[in-house]
Amino acid sequence: MVRIESWGAAGEVTGSKHLLDTGRNRILVDCGLFQGRREEARRKNESFGFDPRGLTACLATHGHLDHCGLYPRLVREGYQGSIVSTPATRDVAGLVMLDSAKIQTQDADYLRRRQRKDPQPWRTVYEPLYDARDARRALERFVTVSYGRPFAIAPGVEVTLHDAGHILGSATARFTIRREAGAELAVGFTGDLGRRNTPILRDPEPMPPVDWLVCESTYGDRLHEPACDGEQRLETVVRETVERGGRLIIPSFAVGRTQEMIYLLHGLHRDGRIPELPVFVDSPMAVSATAIFRAHPECFDEETIEDFLDQGESPFAFDRLRYVTQVSESKRINDLRGPCIIISSSGMAEAGRVLHHLSHGIGDPRNTVLFVGFQGASTLGRRLVDGADEVRIFGEPHAVRARVLSLDCFSAHADYAEIGAWVKQLDLGRLKGVLLVHGEPGAQAHLAEFLRQAGVRRVEALAPGRPVVLD
Ligand SMILES: [Zn+2]
Repeated sequence: MVRIESWGAAGEVTGSKHLLDTGRNRILVDCGLFQGRREEARRKNESFGFDPRGLTACLATHGHLDHCGLYPRLVREGYQGSIVSTPATRDVAGLVMLDSAKIQTQDADYLRRRQRKDPQPWRTVYEPLYDARDARRALERFVTVSYGRPFAIAPGVEVTLHDAGHILGSATARFTIRREAGAELAVGFTGDLGRRNTPILRDPEPMPPVDWLVCESTYGDRLHEPACDGEQRLETVVRETVERGGRLIIPSFAVGRTQEMIYLLHGLHRDGRIPELPVFVDSPMAVSATAIFRAHPECFDEETIEDFLDQGESPFAFDRLRYVTQVSESKRINDLRGPCIIISSSGMAEAGRVLHHLSHGIGDPRNTVLFVGFQGASTLGRRLVDGADEVRIFGEPHAVRARVLSLDCFSAHADYAEIGAWVKQLDLGRLKGVLLVHGEPGAQAHLAEFLRQAGVRRVEALAPGRPVVLD
C-alpha cells in the first residue's frame, strides 16, 4: 500500500515535509523550516512527528529555506541516509542552511543576553534548532542528480527530476514505484512551481504522466498581472530616479531575486536603455549566491546562453557593477554624490544592510525605494508599500519622503491559471487525483474547483498527519 502523509505545509505555506510511504520505503520530500511567530515556529520545528531514523531517503526539490531548512535538524536527530537533489540545489541549500544556522545561533545569544540583563520568569531561552556543524553534516548527505536522469532512490523506487523554473536548481520530482506483477505507480511532486519567461531560468518543464500528483497551491486564488514587463518597468523607474538626481534602493532577497535584478540591469545598461550610473550589490549573502549562479550555467535558459555566455560575457558582471562585502565599503556608499542603484537584502527590509541604506535615504524626496518581492504582514517592507508616512528603523523615527514603489512582475510562484495549465499537460485520463499542499485553505479551495473544472477527477487538500492511500 502506497501512502502520502504531510508533516508540514498542509493547509499553510511554509515548512514543507511530505512523506511518500511505499510500505517498504519511507521517502521524505523536502524538509523545510516553518517560518512564523517564535513560539509556534519552535513547536513545529522542534519535533518532526515521525522518526527521522526510520526514513529510507530524502529528496530536496529546491533550496528555499521553507523547503530545505530543517535537514540539519533531521541529521542531528539521527537521519543517516541520502538527500537527493540537483547539483545547483545542493549548493543553494548549503548556503541557505548555513545562513539559517548563523541566524539561529545569533538569535539564541541575543535572547540569553537579554534574559541575563532583565530576567523574566516567562521568557524561555531556546537552544538553536541546529548549528553550523549540523548544517555541514547535512550538506555531506547530499547526492546530486541532473535533470532528466532516472535515479534509484530506494529499492524498487526511481525518481526523475524535471526543471520547475522556480529558482536556480529547482525541480519537480516524478517517482515510479514498482508493484507486484510488473505494475508501476507514478507519483509526481511539484515542489514550488515557477513561471514562464522569467529571467535566467528555463520555463517549468512538463512532467510525463503520473497516477497521482502532490501539487503546491501558494497562489491558488491569485492571478498575476498578465502583461507585467519587469524589464520595461525597471527601466522607467531607473530613468525617473536619475532625472530627479536620486538614488534607487532595491531591497531584495539575496538568492534569486538579486541575480534577476543584476541580469536585467546588465541588459538595460548594455543596450543603452538606462544612463551610466554605479550599481552596488551590497549583501555578503547575495555575493555568495551569485557565485553559485555562475557555477551552474546548466540551469540557464536559451536567452541567457545566447545573449551572454555565447558572447563570452557573464550575466552577473558589467563595468558599472560592484559587489560589496566589507562593511567599510558599504558605509562609503552613503558618501557618494549623484544617482546610483543599491541592491541590498533583506527583501522585506526586516534585517540586513538594506536598513542602513533606508535609514540614510528614506527621508530624501529625490530617492526611490523599489520593492520587487512579496512583503509579509507586519514587516517594514509592508508598512512602506502600504504608504506609511513615518517608519522606525533601528528604533529611530524616519519621515518617508522618498518615493516608494512595488513591482509585482517578479513572482517566482505560478498563479492558479499557470498551475492549471501545467497540470493539464499531464495525461488527465491516467491522473487519479491531485493532493494539494503549500497553500492557505482559501487558495486551496479555489484551486481545487479550478482543477476539477479543468477535468481532474479528484482534488483534495492534504491534512497534517492524515495519510491518503494511493491506489
Ligand atoms: Zn520556493
